[in-house]
Amino acid sequence: MAPKTILLGEDEADIAAMYQTALTQAGFIVAVAANGQEVIGKIKSARPDLILLDINMPGKDGFEVLRDISENADLYQVVKTVPIVMLTNYSNQQDVEYALKMGAQDYLVKSEWTMPAIIEKVKKYLDED
Ligand SMILES: [Mg+2]
Repeated sequence: MAPKTILLGEDEADIAAMYQTALTQAGFIVAVAANGQEVIGKIKSARPDLILLDINMPGKDGFEVLRDISENADLYQVVKTVPIVMLTNYSNQQDVEYALKMGAQDYLVKSEWTMPAIIEKVKKYLDED
């Protein structure tokens, strides 16, 4: 099977590197975006199979990325079948509900998910478990 591409939207470089290393070792191609604007650009250029999306990022945050996708028909066409999994420090229920309402498929609080568990979750969404 051809390797699947994951787009990782994460502004903290050390955290992005940690996830990128683990996901690469798990056999995925990883594109990293350091803010929401880059996420939007790389949705178009990298054509990811799954998006891991931080919320708190400078400039355009993860919520704004979800909003852009919902409001932009061309962008929506590209990602309508692509699972978006929030991966964030925000843990309050309002944020969870808002993200799911805005089109995210899942919502993971970073402190509650080990790397192996995140990778299992990604594989589940990509039918590789
Ligand atoms: Mg962040």
